[in-house]
Amino acid sequence: MQIRILITDNDLKNKFHESLEIIGHDKIIFTDFNHVIEFGVSQKIQLTLTDGWFYLNDIKFSKEKVINFKSHKLITLINLKRLFQGQNKEPEYCGEFELIMVNNQFNLIQVVDLEKYVLGAIQAELPANFAIEAMKAQAIACRTYALNPRISHLPDNANVCDSYFCCLYYCGHNDLNKNYQISVLSTKNKIISYAHKPILAIFSSCAGGVTNNFADCFSDPVTGKFPSESIPYLKSVPEGNINDGYFKLQNSEALKFLYFNKEVNTFDSNLIQYKWSIQFTANELENQIHVNVQEMLANETEQLFIQAPKHKCFGHIQEIKVKRFGESFVAMELAILTSTGLWVIEKELLIRKLFKNCKPKFNLLKSGKIFFKHEYDKLGLLARLTIFGLGLGHGVGLQQTGANAMALKQKNFTEILNHYYCNTQIIDLNTII
Ligand SMILES: [Zn+2]
Repeated sequence: MQIRILITDNDLKNKFHESLEIIGHDKIIFTDFNHVIEFGVSQKIQLTLTDGWFYLNDIKFSKEKVINFKSHKLITLINLKRLFQGQNKEPEYCGEFELIMVNNQFNLIQVVDLEKYVLGAIQAELPANFAIEAMKAQAIACRTYALNPRISHLPDNANVCDSYFCCLYYCGHNDLNKNYQISVLSTKNKIISYAHKPILAIFSSCAGGVTNNFADCFSDPVTGKFPSESIPYLKSVPEGNINDGYFKLQNSEALKFLYFNKEVNTFDSNLIQYKWSIQFTANELENQIHVNVQEMLANETEQLFIQAPKHKCFGHIQEIKVKRFGESFVAMELAILTSTGLWVIEKELLIRKLFKNCKPKFNLLKSGKIFFKHEYDKLGLLARLTIFGLGLGHGVGLQQTGANAMALKQKNFTEILNHYYCNTQIIDLNTII
């Protein structure tokens, strides 16, 4: 089975390209509806789009909307960079490519066998030293995700993209660790199903003690409704043993229990991703947050999740607190009390993005399971805010760090997947397609 992967630009966000630079380990053949052109081994090819024409170096090649290229061996995309095993590298892809003209830019689609996609995805998602049963669980999750992504890429003529919006995907330099290949081969065609359909196999790095309900974190990708409908298999589950004390607590008290109590012993509690904190001065917050909320208000999708005071003027920040918590105490609504009124931000990802650029190169909070400490000056004005958080990522579905810890405790991939995706089955994809 072949799938189509939308290859994004270096920022992993932009899906349009203006040019490409490629080199083949073997000859590369370009085709459109009427023409074929070949380039030799190691010949650098600059592909550009000018005035509706695809150019290959100086050759005016085609004005068709779609052109293709392929090679029997790897093709290096010199102008792309992908982070792999801690290094920025030029990815090397196999298979066929399709370029689809969209205005004066083009989408780059790799057409590749599903199993090769899964290999590229687990290499990009997991370090090579992960336990093999955790790798197998991730391979099955990535394979399932490709069949049922959260946001449809059909408008892009693709099944998935290669960025963190779907699964990270990296191709090439793939001879580094045999376990990646073993994990894919030994789980070939296996997917996770619920009610005889591939599940929405989303995953993240570390839930911080308890995974999150899907509906508490995500809006409906079609209607934009938040919270979205709940998904029966994407329910909050504890990451191993949690002292009963936690379940009696409410809201930020429960998070404080997970954060400070030394007796908490979950799959992830001794890992570096489990908890974090960051401190901002009032100046850092006030210089940037008003810019961020204005950006959100200007964004068609994001503005749905912002409640602003009538005049939309952002005053001095007095207090920031979680107004509504999910079942696992992830923040669903954040209230910002300012001198000119109350702002409310909904949704885990937007809450995390609210703090973007409050420090140089700071992108977003590591997670949405947060509680705050406010410090005020003698005049009663906010001086500093410390944010304490649990976990890394949205915390819904399979957790990579937890899966690794389970594998180290001799759990197999079936047990790992059954833990994170409740009441699901592992089946052969050929039985439902
Ligand atoms: Zn995507």
